[in-house]
Amino acid sequence: MLSLEFFPPKDPSGLTSTLSLIEELAALNPTFMTVTYGAGGAQTGPAEELVRFINEKLKLIAVQHLTCSRHSVAEIDGIVSDLLKRGIRHILALRGDPAQGETEFRPHPAGFSCARDLTRHLAARSQFSLAVAGYPEVHREAQSPESDLAYLKEKVDAGGEIIITQLFFDNSHYFRFVDAARKIGITAPIVPGIMPIGNIKQLKRFTSLCGAIIPSEVETRLAKLENDPEGVIRYGTDYAISQGEALLAAGVPGLHLYTLNKSAQVRPIIEQLGLGESKTL
Ligand code: FAD
Repeated sequence: MLSLEFFPPKDPSGLTSTLSLIEELAALNPTFMTVTYGAGGAQTGPAEELVRFINEKLKLIAVQHLTCSRHSVAEIDGIVSDLLKRGIRHILALRGDPAQGETEFRPHPAGFSCARDLTRHLAARSQFSLAVAGYPEVHREAQSPESDLAYLKEKVDAGGEIIITQLFFDNSHYFRFVDAARKIGITAPIVPGIMPIGNIKQLKRFTSLCGAIIPSEVETRLAKLENDPEGVIRYGTDYAISQGEALLAAGVPGLHLYTLNKSAQVRPIIEQLGLGESKTL
């Protein structure tokens, strides 16, 4: 199983190039293409375009990420009714992050306070196939690894059929997470999320937001490549390939690639891992 994640371009003038990238990668026959939901809960025109393009033009499964952070239940109902009208039946149900500048999540007064409740609400409609997020390195707001995992089980029991993980760079976090999840009775497939490193500044920004640890050997290598952007891309591509190889060798159910809307790294990674057209899992 191969899942590719894209984000809608902020600037509408980037739409054409994003659509051509999606079309290029669609030729590799991924199982799903997922489209992120605007941070802060805003869903913009380009996101709708991306989902429509994947679903209607490319005839691939489009998964819409949906965060409940800024919406009332009534608004969520409106959004999902619209998705249904457009033939979208796959949702990655998420809570969303705290608002910019805030450290604590504050739910919409007439909305859901966590992804579990959104998942349960969507599952009650029996019209969607639902994915939820999992955190091999523990979600940063969780009280403990145990409470995070117990809560993940609640998300799955609420209707999450598949778990897609936050990005990580050290596979041992993923393997420990899966072991612990199986021990408490989570049986849903847990698809590892891999993000190719393509830019040091961006890597630092993402990891500071999501809490993923950069292994020291990666830090050391990147420090040596500080003035060599092409070298960073080559190293990041090779690193993602070796991470993917080890995960696939261990029998993971598939891979979710955070493409960052770039093909230069994603394409060789898919091809090298044998996840392209001729050998989709
Ligand atoms: P939840 O599952 O609600 O969990 C949030 C925290 O609350 C966790 O620490 C959890 O342990 C704790 N918690 C909640 N309820 C309980 C409870 N009852 N008991 C114990 N603990 C509880 N963000 C976007 O804005 N747009 C996107 O498109 C997007 N896509 C993503 C895709 C993936 C694959 C992943 C992994 C993340 C994505 N995110 C996205 C980021 C996500 O919104 C944040 O990680 C957010 O902080 C948490 O979302 P969640 O759905 O995991 O929240």
